[in-house]
Amino acid sequence: MQETKSTCPYCGVGCGVVIEHDGTQITGVRGDPDHPANFGRLCTKGTNLHLTATPVVLQHQRLREPQRRSARGGTPEAISWAQANREIAERLLAIRAAHGPEAIAVYISGQLLTEDYHAFNKLARAVIGTPHIDSNSRLCMSSAVVGYKQSLGADAPPCSYEDIERADCILVSGANPAWAHPILFRRLEAARTARLESPAGHKLIVIDPRRTETAELADLHLQLAPGTDVALCLGLLNACITRGWTAPDFIAQHTDGFDAVQALAADWPPARAAEVCGVNEADIWQAAEWFATSPSSLSLYCQGLNQSSAGTAKNTALINLHLATGQIGKPGAGPFSLTGQPNAMGGRESGGMATLLPGHRDPAQAADWAEVAALWNVPDLPSKRGLTAVEMFEAAARGDIKAIWIACTNPAQSMPDQATVRAALARCDLVIVQESFAHTATARYADYLLPAATWGEKEGTVTNSERRISRVRAAVPAAGDSRADWLIVRDIAALIDAGLGRAPRLAAGCAEDLWLEHREATRGRDLDITGLSWAVLERDGPQQWPYVSGPTPRLYTDGRFATADGRARFVARPYVPTAEATGVDHPFALTTGRLRDQWHGMSRSGSVPGLFAHDGRPLVRLNPADAGTLADGDLVHVRSQRGELVLPVKLDANIAPARADIAMHWGDEFVGAQQGVNALTHGALCPDSRQPELKFSAVAIAPA
Ligand code: SF4
Repeated sequence: MQETKSTCPYCGVGCGVVIEHDGTQITGVRGDPDHPANFGRLCTKGTNLHLTATPVVLQHQRLREPQRRSARGGTPEAISWAQANREIAERLLAIRAAHGPEAIAVYISGQLLTEDYHAFNKLARAVIGTPHIDSNSRLCMSSAVVGYKQSLGADAPPCSYEDIERADCILVSGANPAWAHPILFRRLEAARTARLESPAGHKLIVIDPRRTETAELADLHLQLAPGTDVALCLGLLNACITRGWTAPDFIAQHTDGFDAVQALAADWPPARAAEVCGVNEADIWQAAEWFATSPSSLSLYCQGLNQSSAGTAKNTALINLHLATGQIGKPGAGPFSLTGQPNAMGGRESGGMATLLPGHRDPAQAADWAEVAALWNVPDLPSKRGLTAVEMFEAAARGDIKAIWIACTNPAQSMPDQATVRAALARCDLVIVQESFAHTATARYADYLLPAATWGEKEGTVTNSERRISRVRAAVPAAGDSRADWLIVRDIAALIDAGLGRAPRLAAGCAEDLWLEHREATRGRDLDITGLSWAVLERDGPQQWPYVSGPTPRLYTDGRFATADGRARFVARPYVPTAEATGVDHPFALTTGRLRDQWHGMSRSGSVPGLFAHDGRPLVRLNPADAGTLADGDLVHVRSQRGELVLPVKLDANIAPARADIAMHWGDEFVGAQQGVNALTHGALCPDSRQPELKFSAVAIAPA
C-alpha cells in the first residue's frame, strides 16, 4: 500500500487526509495526524472519501472522455481532446468576433484549486477579453468578503482555529458547524468541556432561526426570525452601550465611525430588537453581557449572515460588535467567517471573481488593473467589473451572454430561481461544462462536456477558513481521459490565442508554475506569500498567510488594521427586512441549509450509499403547530412565486411555527422531475456583495 497526503475536497475546514492507494486505485483514507486543521480527525464525509473513487463510481458516475452533443436534448458522443479543443476554440472565437468578448462568460467554483482559478482568470480576462468571470463562491462568502473589506480594510479572516480553544465566549451566528463544519465543532465541544471544568468557565451563544445540533449545545439560543440579524446586532450593541460594556480606549485609538453606529443603535433598545427578532429581551441583555465582558469573545458565522439581501450589513453589524467591545486582535477573539467551500479563500486570493482581482486588488481601481496587466505581461485587460453569478445568468436569459463555460459547479441545481437559470442555459448558443461527474443537472444543457480530474488525481493548493494554504496531491492517474482543470483551460486558451494571431498568454507547464504566478501577484499586498514555496509546504506542512518570513496565525494584534490609515471602520447600516415578505398567499418563511452527511448538489457525496443513512430523502420540515391534519410522510405542495415542489412533510419542533426548512442538496436526481429547493428561492441580491438571498423565501404549503 502507498500513502499520499492531501486535503479533503469538501468543506472550508480544510482537513488533511492520507490517501491509501496502490498507485492506480484509491483504497482508503484517514485523517492526517500532522495537519493542524484536524490533527487526524475526519467527519463522516471525509471518512467515506475513498468510496467516491471506487471502480464502480469511476466507471459509471465519472465523466471519462470529452463529449459533444450535436443537438440539445440529444445523447452526447465521445470525441477526442484535439477535436473538442479545436471546435470549442473555433466556436468561442466566432462568438467573440460576432458579438464581442463580453458575449462570453465563465462561471467557476470554490472547489477548484488556486492554480485552476488562476488559469480561468487569465482565460477570461487576458485571453478571451471578457470581464464576466464569477464563481459559485458568490453564493457562499461574498458578503463576508465585502464585510471584512468595509470594516477592517481587507478580505482577511483575522482568526485561527486555535482561537476556538482560546475563547472564553463563542457566538455562533447563522451557522450550524455541528453539521456544516463538523471537525471545528468537535474542537469547540472539546474546548468547551475542558473550560467548563475550569474556574474560567465558558459561554456559547447561538443565533439561528432553527434549533440545530449546534444550538442544542449552547448556553443561550436566540431563535430569531429569519433575516432579522442586523436588528439583533443593533440591539446587542445598544445593550453594550447602555450598560457601559464597550471599550472606549480601543474605539478611540483604533477605529473611526463609532458615533454614527452609536446613533443608529440608540433606536434599537433590546426591547425593540426582541420584538422585531421574535426573541426574549432578557436573552439579548444576557448575550450582550457575556460577549462584551468575557476576556475573549469569538464569533463564528456562515451562510445565515451571508446568503441574504442584507448580507454585507449583517457581516458589518457583527464586526461592529467586536470593534465596540475590543474583542479583536487578541487570542480567542475576533470575527471569524467559516468558509463553505474548500477553496473559496483561494479563489478570493487569486481574484477569479467579477468583483475581485489577483492579490486582493480592486476592479474599481485603474491602477490595480494596470498592475495585473503588467504581472500577466499583457497590453490590456477588460478593465471593469464583470457580471456576478445571478446577473450572469440573467444576462444569458436575456440573450446578452451567448456562450458560457462552467467548471466544477452545477448552477442548474445550485443557483436561485431555477426557472431563469435553466432558461438561460437553454438560450445560450454554446454551453461548455467542465466536470468530473457525468450526471449533473447542468451537464444536460452542455454542448461540450470536458472531463476534469478530481480529488486524488490532481496537484495544487487550497486555502482554508483560517488562511492556511495546504497542498492537494495526486495519488492515482485521472479517471479515463480526464485532465487537470488548468490543463484543459491552457490548451484551449492557446488555440484561442493562435486564432487571434498572438503568442499564448497562458503558457504554464505545470500547476506549480501557475502557483508561482499567483504568488507574485501577492507581493507587497496584505496576503503576501512571497516567502512561501511548494518546497516549504513540503517541508513544514500547511501554512497561514501572510507568509513573508513565516506564517501569521492572527491578524491585527498591534491594533493596526488593513485600511490606509490603519484604523478599522464602524459601518452604520440600518436594519432592512428580507426582500420578500410572508403574507396571506405565502405565509411560511422558508429557510435552506445543509444535511450532516451530504455536500452541495451531491455529485460526489451522493455516490456513497452509506451517506444517506442519516437523511435518506428530501423533506420539508414544519413545526407540529402548523401540521393541521398532516402527519409525517404526507405529501404537500410547497409553492413560491417562482416554482413549486411536492415533498413529504416532516414535523419537527426545532423549526419555529410559520417557518419551513428544506435541505439544499436534493436536485432532479433525488426529487423526481422536480428541481430541488432552488425552484422556490429567488435571486434578490445584497447591493454590496451581489450575494443572493438563498436563506429566505415566502412559500405556501398545502396538502397534495
Ligand atoms: Fe472534510 Fe470538512 Fe469533514 Fe474536514 S470537516 S473531513 S474538511 S468535510
